[in-house]
Amino acid sequence: MVRLAFAETLMRGERTSKLSREEIHFLLSTTDPEEKQNLWDAADRVREKWIGPEVHLRAVVEFSNYCQRDCLYCGLRKGNQILHRYRMSQREILETSIRAKELGFQTVVLQSGEDPFYTRERIEDLIRAIKRETEMVIALSVGERSAEDYSAWRAAGGDRYLLKFETSSPFLFHRMRPGCRLDDRMNCLKNLRNLGFEVGSGNIVGLSGQTLVDLVNDIILFQKYDFDMIAVGPFISHPQTPLGSSPNGSLDLTLSVLAITRLLTQNTHLPATTAIRILDPNGCKAALAAGANILMHDFTPPIYRRYYEIYPGKSTHSIEINEIREFLTSIGRKIGQGVGSRKELLESNRGGMVRKFKNP
Ligand code: SAH
Ligand code: SF4
Repeated sequence: MVRLAFAETLMRGERTSKLSREEIHFLLSTTDPEEKQNLWDAADRVREKWIGPEVHLRAVVEFSNYCQRDCLYCGLRKGNQILHRYRMSQREILETSIRAKELGFQTVVLQSGEDPFYTRERIEDLIRAIKRETEMVIALSVGERSAEDYSAWRAAGGDRYLLKFETSSPFLFHRMRPGCRLDDRMNCLKNLRNLGFEVGSGNIVGLSGQTLVDLVNDIILFQKYDFDMIAVGPFISHPQTPLGSSPNGSLDLTLSVLAITRLLTQNTHLPATTAIRILDPNGCKAALAAGANILMHDFTPPIYRRYYEIYPGKSTHSIEINEIREFLTSIGRKIGQGVGSRKELLESNRGGMVRKFKNP
């Protein structure tokens, strides 16, 4: 049964994209299946209005699993001494990007642990080589680095940067990422934005010790910073980490965070994250029906992919682009044309209102 107050709050959120902290909490805390479905459906309508049926694909190349950090949730943490470590050479990364381009991908996401082996200059060279050979949009996701590194990478041709703030709670952040501070990460995000990167961020839903209020604050931060992409992913427990016996995040709660984020941000890019897809076989479809409009496609060569074990269950099976096309058609969607930038979306002026890029 959908309560009247729930229906009214949801309708206001859908119509105005403005909800108070209390209202977000109210929507997020429902346990009623029909109310949850109504929330996801509202986000689906907002996605259709602002973005349409296009789903943009991103090719992800996980080029190194070395990491100097010790995040409690992540299988790549330096304390995981069982993990076999690898680094792809510049040649291998370039060839993988060229393959993605040949298959029609226009964006390559270069992701790794925080690996100082990849110095400012090495990443610069890599960006230049990929740009020269493929003209692809280049997104980086290599963690917290100095403003000088970011600046050099932007000048070399880097277009986007993905750095999830993970949780808006400074205490939980500090507990989950020993030796790191939320302020420093937010500062990195500001530097990236000021340098002209399209900036992606995001959170993890279901971290041990996280409250509903923390998630409400995450959503408020998403809206305040007006990120160009927001990755909402469930926590997935990895046995070789200190959180090995913590339960996985809930699919429903993840979908609801995603859905409210869609209501409040309207036209930002929201991926059906890999973690959602791994958590539940229906996760991808459910996320695409609750506000998501992006698919990350793992392009890491299979010999390395098994070792990029942020969490268990990442498939070594390569999905063909035709399978993605068929899947999208079956749910009434289609692969997006163009590079799928936020700017492009804003310029297309879908829905009649243009939001301005905000400086955090
Ligand atoms: N080292 C970089 C990028 C690689 S990690 C960084 O930390 O920014 C990419 C993402 O994996 C992280 O942002 C985190 O949100 C996610 N992640 C790591 N371990 C996870 C887990 N156990 N469950 C869900 N997401 C996880
Ligand atoms: Fe390293 Fe990123 Fe994993 Fe933290 S989340 S251990 S920084 S790869």
